[in-house]
Amino acid sequence: MFFSKLLIPTLREAPADADIVSAKLMIRSGMVRKLASGLYEFLPLGLRALRKIENIIRQEMNAAGGQEIMLPLISPKDLWLETGRWSVYGKELFRLKDRKDAEFCLAPTAEEVVTDLVRKDIKSYRQLPIMLYQFGAKFRDEIRPRFGIMRSREFLMKDAYSFHTDEADLEKYYKTMFDAYTNVCVRCGFNFRAVEAASGAIGGSFSHEFMILADAGEEEIVWCNCGYGANGEKAETLKMEQLQEDFLPMVAVFTPNVGVVEDVARFLNSYPSKFIKTMIYSADGKPVVVLVRGDHEINEIKLQSLLGATKVVLADEQTVTSITNAPIGFAGPSGLKNVKIIADLSVVGISNAITGANKKDYHLRNVNYNRDYKVDIIADVRKVMEGDTCPRCKKETLKFSRGIEIGHIFKLGAKYSKSLNATYLDINGKENFIVMGCYGIGVTRILAATIEQSHDDNGIIWPDNIAPFEIVIVPVNYADEKTEEVTNKIYKELSAKGLDVLIDDRDERAGIKFKDADLIGIPYRITIGEKNLANGNVELKARRNGKDGVKLLTPESAIVEILKIYKIA
Ligand SMILES: [Zn+2]
Repeated sequence: MFFSKLLIPTLREAPADADIVSAKLMIRSGMVRKLASGLYEFLPLGLRALRKIENIIRQEMNAAGGQEIMLPLISPKDLWLETGRWSVYGKELFRLKDRKDAEFCLAPTAEEVVTDLVRKDIKSYRQLPIMLYQFGAKFRDEIRPRFGIMRSREFLMKDAYSFHTDEADLEKYYKTMFDAYTNVCVRCGFNFRAVEAASGAIGGSFSHEFMILADAGEEEIVWCNCGYGANGEKAETLKMEQLQEDFLPMVAVFTPNVGVVEDVARFLNSYPSKFIKTMIYSADGKPVVVLVRGDHEINEIKLQSLLGATKVVLADEQTVTSITNAPIGFAGPSGLKNVKIIADLSVVGISNAITGANKKDYHLRNVNYNRDYKVDIIADVRKVMEGDTCPRCKKETLKFSRGIEIGHIFKLGAKYSKSLNATYLDINGKENFIVMGCYGIGVTRILAATIEQSHDDNGIIWPDNIAPFEIVIVPVNYADEKTEEVTNKIYKELSAKGLDVLIDDRDERAGIKFKDADLIGIPYRITIGEKNLANGNVELKARRNGKDGVKLLTPESAIVEILKIYKIA
């Protein structure tokens, strides 16, 4: 391919609205153009990289026994009503009507449609298990599309769904898919972590997220050298042992004009870790009291899943007052009646704790579990924090990184098969619900995440296997006969081996060609200059290694070197 013939509109400067490195570089390198908020056009370079990722994913899905299908992008409302997600999805769902006023949505995911397909065509245990997958555009009407293609309103996703006779079979297949996803990440060349995750709107009992590590990542990842990894929202915490002291008599103390935990603790010559914070929440409209240590924070997602609630928010002032008989800021567990009390694992071990007194301007000292207050549930409801010990090995301190989620795998169980009544007949002729798993990868998002992880001041640094072109040949003067001959020879030999080679035949200075090659991020550059050629050499440079990556080689050796890198015989 000739650079001069391809639509690669590189730019010196990124547009002002490009808000992160990947968004800037994708536009500057001519991979994408923005059509409207959250909508992007893929130009040849962008699409080439996208297709490479897609092919790697397709190979791994097929290796995992998947069958590729293609479902409509437009999905009828009735199916979404059956699962209740027509309303759950809220404004993120793009909705539309046809000429007969029938309602539809642009699919943000396909559990409904694929389960409908399966309930019509799968009747017997003999047809299970089965895994169906597709590549297709997905739509989400993001409230604020940003970060380029990372949070766009239309994106390419690979979504896969597996159907099983029982949980045990799903469990086995989930591991197969976990490995397939791991293979995709390894083959694409990512520095990644698979982490345990909260399931969010899709629901289901268990899930893993595949995260590309990058400072710009929106997600917090918590991990340990022992292999434990979790989304910051989900990361488990251990019960913290407290020094046991003799119980002292509970006393009320006047604490005028002291507000937050730290102030109260200081006022009482104590520490936040001696404090029990008492928060009052409304879970689906019902009040619930939650206790955490003064230096900890409540994890509302853990709380929500513990309560099985769909909505958990801090209670309003009126509710707080009616439960505590005091203004906000003085709640404590002692003396509370007729309300469910949940204590975090680290709370009940605190002896002689400080709490609010349920009375304006008063706190209680020497509050002790069982003697002065009771709780209904003791559970892990706090956020993980720096310094926490790993919940798996119980030895090492947890590490925190930023990550970008590119894949998510779920054990759905019978959630969708129940609401859509997808059943099969077992070996005894008995009807059972089909057990499901679902597995998504954001293909467009991978492009942006890769660039966030792999770039320098000069541009993108593509991993070898997903670069739009693996090699760029830069003839310094293509008009020179010998240069042209060697350029064409290298191009032909590498192309014949299935590699994608770009010839920068533009009538530009070598410096400009080098800059563009670095900006686009092509992994290997072969420069053909008359001076080196006079000694029988060309220059091979690995993008990743900067100036240190330059080697002078004969054209033949350069070809051998590249084929070795790509493991081509
Ligand atoms: Zn560990």
